[in-house]
Amino acid sequence: MFIKKLGKEIGTGFSELLFPNICVVCNDLLIGTETGICSICYNNMPYSPWRFNDQNPIVKALWGRSLLSAGFHLLSYRKGSIASRVLHSIKYENQQDLAVMLGRKIGFELRNSGFLIPVDGIVAIPMHPKKQKIRGYNQAELLAKGISEVISKPLISGLLTQTRQTQTQTAKGREDRGMNTGDKYQCNVNFSFNPLNHLLLVDDVMTTGSTLQAAEMAIRRVYSPENLQLSIATLAYVF
Ligand SMILES: [Zn+2]
Repeated sequence: MFIKKLGKEIGTGFSELLFPNICVVCNDLLIGTETGICSICYNNMPYSPWRFNDQNPIVKALWGRSLLSAGFHLLSYRKGSIASRVLHSIKYENQQDLAVMLGRKIGFELRNSGFLIPVDGIVAIPMHPKKQKIRGYNQAELLAKGISEVISKPLISGLLTQTRQTQTQTAKGREDRGMNTGDKYQCNVNFSFNPLNHLLLVDDVMTTGSTLQAAEMAIRRVYSPENLQLSIATLAYVF
């Protein structure tokens, strides 16, 4: 038993030597329960000063083209900031545990805001299946999982599917963003919601809002605002 345990510890130590558990921002070694990011960088993240209400910039950015009830973003994203490092790591560096942990953080923020009483379910903005197969996960789904754990509301899978692959928002010029998203998503007609049900749409980042708008449009083709309220929460908002 002792030899087995020792072997396991040596194995863990060996893998840590090869793949050290380091902070995605500052590269310092992580300690204790730190997940993906060290406590110092976690505390220094550019947290949004706005709360989950209709004055949040992500709701204002969608005014006139959306019927969202409310919006929330955890981090204010600027190029080269801690937020951009964190976002890059959960998208491209397999930092899945970090994504779930940040989802829990969003969940705590939403729960503490007192707004969340009417939210009935959580929907992650889907990725195109081909893209998800290559990446192995959808970071929006991991964020949604973390939120779901904290606010004890179900994660609703299969409501939306991405039907068309588009260039990533960051790869396109700013003037092109917001285009070609009309039929990007399809909404499953087989869900039955009660009147006044309220869903929280979750994505990793909002740039112009075209992705969230396309998702909302797909849902609205099937479920009217009288029957289904929608709000959004993202990890970051690009200023
Ligand atoms: Zn750090």
